Amino acid sequence: MSGLIFHLIAHTHWDREWHLPRATFHARLVPMLDDLIERLQADAGFRTFLLDGQTVLLEDYLGVRPERENDLRALVKTGRLQVGPWYVLADELIPSGESLIRNLLLGTADAERLGGRLDVLYSPDAFGHPAVLPTLAREFGLKYGVLWRGLGGEPGQERDFFRWRGPDGRDILLWHLPPDGYEIGAGLPGAGARLPDIWTQVRATLVQRAAGKHIPLFIGADHHAPHPTLARLRDLLADLEPASSFRILDVAGRAWHARAAQAAARASGAVVGAPGGAARGAGPAGRKPRSAACPRHRVAHAGPLAISRHDRGMYRGRRLVRGRASPHPSGRVRR
Ligand SMILES: [Zn+2]
Repeated sequence: MSGLIFHLIAHTHWDREWHLPRATFHARLVPMLDDLIERLQADAGFRTFLLDGQTVLLEDYLGVRPERENDLRALVKTGRLQVGPWYVLADELIPSGESLIRNLLLGTADAERLGGRLDVLYSPDAFGHPAVLPTLAREFGLKYGVLWRGLGGEPGQERDFFRWRGPDGRDILLWHLPPDGYEIGAGLPGAGARLPDIWTQVRATLVQRAAGKHIPLFIGADHHAPHPTLARLRDLLADLEPASSFRILDVAGRAWHARAAQAAARASGAVVGAPGGAARGAGPAGRKPRSAACPRHRVAHAGPLAISRHDRGMYRGRRLVRGRASPHPSGRVRR
């Protein structure tokens, strides 16, 4: 396949809820974000950075760097730093549906306070997904999604891009990360003789699943600093493959989704697939999603999402959410 358009997406997320103690993560998070803000400000070629779906990192950061709020606002407002829509990257099958709703309410409120939300249901590191996820996304005005493990193997899920329909019939356009997940481009060096070989392997993985000519290339990993020379990497890849185009993701992730959706529809006649059930299949490298065997989760996630517009208004104010002293998406109780 030639004439491809690769979208380089620099990103990281922080498995803050479970991977390491908060203080340990905090000591790494603050210098990482210091450096990221300065690089985005200094280098216009480093166009955007995706802060993998969670806003709690910025809350942590501003707790010790309140003087950087205006810098963050400027980057979020212009789409150069893409934040939300979640507050935390929760497991999607263990907490209740109510927690997932509150998670999105808090994340949306945080992101909008800083200048705007990423309008993509981005959940890169969950171990499985409830059947109502498309419905939940549409309740929050999200038409697009990016997921990884827990999907795959069902009819209609063969390509990287398909529609996932919820029980109420509404769907989202989903980009399904490749088997190597969001780390697929993490090993691409910004210089050196190894780049052509590494790119050949990465490219083959991406292209064999591509539903259209727009192909995202995620470059980053969990709790990592940004790629040191993203613009240089883009130029080197363009030299290696002059028949294709290489772009650093533009200011709105949803714009890429919309273009990719149109291209996929043209390429295949229709955007394919409509998996109806919860996605809990064995993930990459045979990892079994947590809670996959627990049927009560199917029930737990179906009911609370029948939330009316009136009810949704009740939760809109962040203070009100906190005032209810109910289980927080991360498992803590907030007051
Ligand atoms: Zn992770």
